[in-house]
Amino acid sequence: MIAVSWLNSLTFYRDDIVPLLLSKVEKNIDTDCWEWLEDIKARYPAVWTHGGMVNAHRLAFVMFNRKLAPGEVVRHICDNRRCINPLHLLAGSQADNVKDMVKRGRLVSKLAPEQVKEIRQQRARKEPALALATRFGVSASTIYNIEHRKSWKHL
Ligand SMILES: [Zn+2]
Repeated sequence: MIAVSWLNSLTFYRDDIVPLLLSKVEKNIDTDCWEWLEDIKARYPAVWTHGGMVNAHRLAFVMFNRKLAPGEVVRHICDNRRCINPLHLLAGSQADNVKDMVKRGRLVSKLAPEQVKEIRQQRARKEPALALATRFGVSASTIYNIEHRKSWKHL
């Protein structure tokens, strides 16, 4: 991965990078996530540009939001690692990231099995994922994962 200094040398909204990023995602109409289409080989999608590999979500953050300070990590507020929607990305320190993960872990485990079944029934009736996320106090990607049995598989 390329150092933050390289990312920060880029100007906001580069015409040679933004279309490349947008060509690699599909917008999820339920969650508004911009989901990476190619296989992810590491933890996050990566893109080859200007002679190096860079995390796609970090690049999207710099292109659409602002430059990153040294040590800042880019977090997903949607919990979707494939997503590069700049509105779903938040920059902060590594410490914030850990705190956030702990908090999210509590949010996810807060769901009871009956609620998980309810979420699946509601999704089958075309109830919007975002409305369910708000109602159950979880992220839209949690709803997506429940619906597609990527989580709570045993139910
Ligand atoms: Zn997202």
